[in-house]
Amino acid sequence: MPIPNSFDAFVIAEDNGKPKGSFSSLTPADLPDHEVLVEVAYSTVNYKDGLAASGKAKIARKLPMVAGIDLAGTVVESRSPDWKPGDRVVVNGWGLSETQWGGYSRYQRVKPEWLIRLPDAFTLEQAMGIGTAGYTAALCVDALERWGAVRPGDREVLVTGAAGGVGSVAVALLAKRGYAVTASTGRPETHDYLRSLGAGGFIDRATLLEKGAPLQKERWAGGVDSVGGMTLVNALAQTVWGGAVAACGLAGSADLPGTVLPHILRSVALIGIDSVMAPVDRRASAWARLARDLDPGHLAVMYEVHPFADLPALADRIMAGKIRGRVVLDLT
Ligand code: NDP
Repeated sequence: MPIPNSFDAFVIAEDNGKPKGSFSSLTPADLPDHEVLVEVAYSTVNYKDGLAASGKAKIARKLPMVAGIDLAGTVVESRSPDWKPGDRVVVNGWGLSETQWGGYSRYQRVKPEWLIRLPDAFTLEQAMGIGTAGYTAALCVDALERWGAVRPGDREVLVTGAAGGVGSVAVALLAKRGYAVTASTGRPETHDYLRSLGAGGFIDRATLLEKGAPLQKERWAGGVDSVGGMTLVNALAQTVWGGAVAACGLAGSADLPGTVLPHILRSVALIGIDSVMAPVDRRASAWARLARDLDPGHLAVMYEVHPFADLPALADRIMAGKIRGRVVLDLT
């Protein structure tokens, strides 16, 4: 199929000195001069996309910027020997929407080293059902296992922000591996959903938001935290000797108002997870885990597909904490 002369994109541009997103029309000549041209079928709305598209935070470091930190599509043209037309690919992170034009464009040019070959297990739509949030959840579980902190069938593993994108996938991946998963959520109406993904127990997120003692009753073998702030501090204070918490998010707060006591008296590890610049071997391992452990039935209930035009409303909803699971944008 020839590339159309113009196509839709969602672009952040300067408006009265502030970044503002809107739909606009691009031509192939507008795209960056990277080696691989991808026809984007689907993108997604992550928390960071919500920040960028709603204008609530300055994510783009140069303007104009095509937003969207994820894309899934098919290679149309390639000047790289590693990729050929027809290859099904995914890009997560690598500065998309910050320093590099991102996935909210029907066509995008990207660097060959950013691409991951989509495992056969997934369709392009499912790949974005997973998106950066799901791939980050997989990085977190990989990190906990690499650290040696958790063992299937042993003590509970805590997942905070459980009904969100990262949390939902983390619950499903951990449960599939045989871990006892306790989900922390502020939305009791999501308990059935989280139970269906494999959560065995629940804890009200309000209890983790209260300031507690620096060392509390040891409960968690490990944790996946996407909330930050007091929630992360309490998770660390409740982790058993030698356990670990993989921290990837700040949905509650960017602060870390705790003490070193869990680390120096219980050898608890705080493992930081960044998905954006994660090296290719870590990405491949995370996607392989998703292909192996993410049940297609679970994935199907985890995301909704919306037309590209719904993006501004969805950005507002994710900022208001009103999205359950994941949102896929259909650009076809
Ligand atoms: P979502 O909005 O889908 O989920 C976040 C969840 O956090 C919400 O569903 C809610 O869970 C909980 N939450 C929201 N606000 C608060 C609050 N004030 N206090 C306590 N809990 C709260 O976002 P994502 O899952 O996409 O992303 C989660 C976090 O992870 C974000 O901060 C994001 O920026 C970060 N992230 C980081 C990555 C990295 O590379 N390090 C990659 C991807 C995401 P519930 O309703 O269950 O209580």
